[in-house]
Amino acid sequence: MDRYAIVGHPVAHSKSPDIQNRFAELTGQALAYERLELPLGGFLPGIEAARAGGLRGGNVTVPFKLDAYRWVQHHSERARLAQAVNTFWFEADGVHGDNTDGVGLVRDITRNAGVALKGARVLLVGAGGAGAGALGPLLAQGPRELVLSNRTVERAQELAGRHADWARRHGAQLTACGLMDVAGRFDVVVNATAASLQGAEPPLPASAIGAGTLVVDMMYGPKAEPFAQWARSHGATVRDGLGMLVEQAAEAFFLWRAVRPQTAPVQERLRRQLQASGGG
Ligand code: NAP
Repeated sequence: MDRYAIVGHPVAHSKSPDIQNRFAELTGQALAYERLELPLGGFLPGIEAARAGGLRGGNVTVPFKLDAYRWVQHHSERARLAQAVNTFWFEADGVHGDNTDGVGLVRDITRNAGVALKGARVLLVGAGGAGAGALGPLLAQGPRELVLSNRTVERAQELAGRHADWARRHGAQLTACGLMDVAGRFDVVVNATAASLQGAEPPLPASAIGAGTLVVDMMYGPKAEPFAQWARSHGATVRDGLGMLVEQAAEAFFLWRAVRPQTAPVQERLRRQLQASGGG
């Protein structure tokens, strides 16, 4: 059995082992995917010990995505743009790293929801780790305009500045602003903030959404419900982050095994489990 792991602190809550082990069953791949909780400040010795113990690769979650970025020797372009790594694997020439969050989000929007990003007006709310992972792949779809808003506006400006050439290459107009400085209505809105975790107000003005807006909240479960209800009450169609979660995992699986698993049955199973536990 080839061994892979989700590396983070904490990891007990992570759905990645369920998802990846189910992908392995569905594709007939002989792998075991486990949890690896490392102490805060202990990423490097912990991951190197796991590597010496035969780990083939894995995923990285909070708070180690930047540590992983620094540790990896061969970065994909999207990992370099995000300056964060959520997927790694070992090859003869060293450690390879990628960031699959953004491509997972894009697949959920364009394939699962059937909404085109090309030519769209897109609002990305949040310039933390998740927002950073999403920005490059969203821009690569060629939206006509992408507005990046964040509570700490300097963070949005820095992230947008790093993506300026990338946006130009894909014909997208990219600007950065504060949460409530957003103007006009959008075709697609992505909430990549942790505002719902704190029970905070919706992190965008209601005027940004309406009938015809797809709102994707990266969060899922009971804490995501008030934001979803707010967005629906203003006419938007809402998707939670479960689809993105499964799609980013499928991309990681593909990078490790060169086999693309089916995502729909795994997403449906997770949805049923979430509903059975009273979470949506
Ligand atoms: P992070 O790096 O800690 O960033 C948090 C972001 O939320 C920052 O933009 C922060 O703004 C903003 N924020 C926090 N509290 C806020 C509030 N009260 N009002 C407005 N903005 C607030 O976290 P992250 O890794 O980006 O994760 C963000 C969310 O995405 C989490 O809920 C996470 O669970 C989810 N996520 C989901 C998936 C998936 O596959 N579905 C993948 C990754 C992440 P400042 O910069 O001003 O602090």
